[in-house]
Amino acid sequence: MRLTKFFLPTLKDDPADAVTISHKLMIRAGMIKQLTSGVYSSLPFGLIAFRKAENIIREEMNAIGGNEFLLPAISPHDIWSETGRMEDYGDLMFRIKNRELVLCPTHEEVFTSIAKPNLISYKDFPQVWYQIQSKFRNEERPRAGVLRARQFTMKDAYSLDATWEGLDRSYADMERAYRNIFTRCGLDFVVVSAHSGAMGGSASEEFMVPSSAGEDNIVISEDGSYTSNIEVAVSFVEKNKRKNSDLPTEEFHTPNIKSIEELAGFLNITDKSYLAKSRVFVKPSKDGDEYILTLVRGDDEVNEMKLQNLFGINIRPAHNEELLEITGADAGSIGPLGLKNKKIKIIADLLLEDSDEIISGANKNDYHNRNIDLKRDVPGIEYKDLRTVKKGELSQKNKSRLRITKAIEVGHIFKLGTMYSEALGAKFLDTDGKENPIIMGSYGIGVERTVASFIEQSNDEKGIIWKGEIAPFKIILICLHGKTSDVKELSDEFYKLLTTEMNIETLYDDRESVRPGVKFNDADLIGIPLQLVIGEKNLKDGNVEIKIRKTGEKLILKKEDALNKAAELLKL
Ligand code: ATP
Ligand code: MG
Repeated sequence: MRLTKFFLPTLKDDPADAVTISHKLMIRAGMIKQLTSGVYSSLPFGLIAFRKAENIIREEMNAIGGNEFLLPAISPHDIWSETGRMEDYGDLMFRIKNRELVLCPTHEEVFTSIAKPNLISYKDFPQVWYQIQSKFRNEERPRAGVLRARQFTMKDAYSLDATWEGLDRSYADMERAYRNIFTRCGLDFVVVSAHSGAMGGSASEEFMVPSSAGEDNIVISEDGSYTSNIEVAVSFVEKNKRKNSDLPTEEFHTPNIKSIEELAGFLNITDKSYLAKSRVFVKPSKDGDEYILTLVRGDDEVNEMKLQNLFGINIRPAHNEELLEITGADAGSIGPLGLKNKKIKIIADLLLEDSDEIISGANKNDYHNRNIDLKRDVPGIEYKDLRTVKKGELSQKNKSRLRITKAIEVGHIFKLGTMYSEALGAKFLDTDGKENPIIMGSYGIGVERTVASFIEQSNDEKGIIWKGEIAPFKIILICLHGKTSDVKELSDEFYKLLTTEMNIETLYDDRESVRPGVKFNDADLIGIPLQLVIGEKNLKDGNVEIKIRKTGEKLILKKEDALNKAAELLKL
């Protein structure tokens, strides 16, 4: 591609509204342009990179027997209502007002409706179906350019199996394909156990790219044997020991004490494991809202994702007015005893199992109870893993120290099971002639997010540093036009050889009226791995220059050797 014909609107300065590195660089390198909040146009240079990622994904999907589809981006309401996801997605779903249509945020429903009349016997399985297509999500806070957008390209794949063992095999194939994809895309990534979000289903793993631009927190053990999204992470922490003192509960005055820290200060204690922190959650339901009171140790926090896994995704914290009505007190004085609403469900974290001598709010403002024995005093209490893991704790299995880092989710694989096939009645006849729902898996990759994540990990103060298969071009040929015509003649000849004979994707900076300094800055900014510079000074001695973008290293080479050397460097 000749730069004189290529639309590459580069910018010298960072755009004012961009915070993350990839956002800044993708705008400055002329890859993307914002149309409105969270909505981006892919410009030619960006599109080449996105297509590179798509092709890698396509090859790996085809390698495991994937069938490529292209489904509509709009779909009717009814299939989403049948699976209950119209409600689950809520405001995240774009709805078309003058028709009963939505813009699809994902495509489980549509793929299942194709499977339903077509996969009807056990002989029709297994199948892997996928597409690479636009998805629409009305994200509340689009951010970081294409990392979280309202329209983005997703590769979404679905496995369809007749048996649970079949699902395990499909899932394992997909995991292998994902590892290949992200390795080929040049990403440094971690595979973590994950929460299954709005999709239902059981096992689920995310492909995470550690980066400060990430919105997820992942937990990794020092020995690498444990990796998990913090949303579902567990650790080894000693449970509270039962003291068996059998002291009666006692209410005491705690004026103006609103937080656990203030309570610990007031009681002059540092160990908060016997202070139980209470929060109230509401699970909306057609037959009347359900209330849940959670208890965790004073130095812990409730993990709301774990609550969603237990009670469904629409569970939410109670508002202040609701709190007063349900418990009889404001946030700082809530506890398991003396609740106004007797129907509230009480769930405590496993670390508090059967604890006694607990201190917690008395459901009366400015009062707390001491000597609460959860076993004796709280009938019907249940214990579940509710807490958020903290850094420095140990992994359960190998007792290896845990650290927590920010990461970007680029891919997600999960075993859906039969949730969608049951809801939409997609059934087949098994070997005994019995009707069973199709067993499904769902597997997504964000295309633009994958490219942006690469840029987050591969850049310097000058710009992007492309490498490997994902690089939009492999060489930028820079012609520094001189007074005589030989520079241009050799550049033209090199361009021809590179593109027609050597088949190397080359961007040719053939701009005449642009100063060398600007050309060099642009080349560094857009980050093509090799810069082949042809200028008067070197050419007088029969030489040209190759600069390696990543290291900045410059090689002066005989013009006859330059192209072979470039090809050799690209293989490294
Ligand atoms: P997130 O937790 O980041 O909102 P998600 O878990 O809702 O994402 P999935 O439904 O698992 O996303 O979608 C599959 C993939 O699509 C994600 O792994 C991610 O790479 C990509 N993706 C999801 N939402 C967005 C978005 N708003 N912008 C860009 N890519 C996205
Ligand atoms: Mg996900």
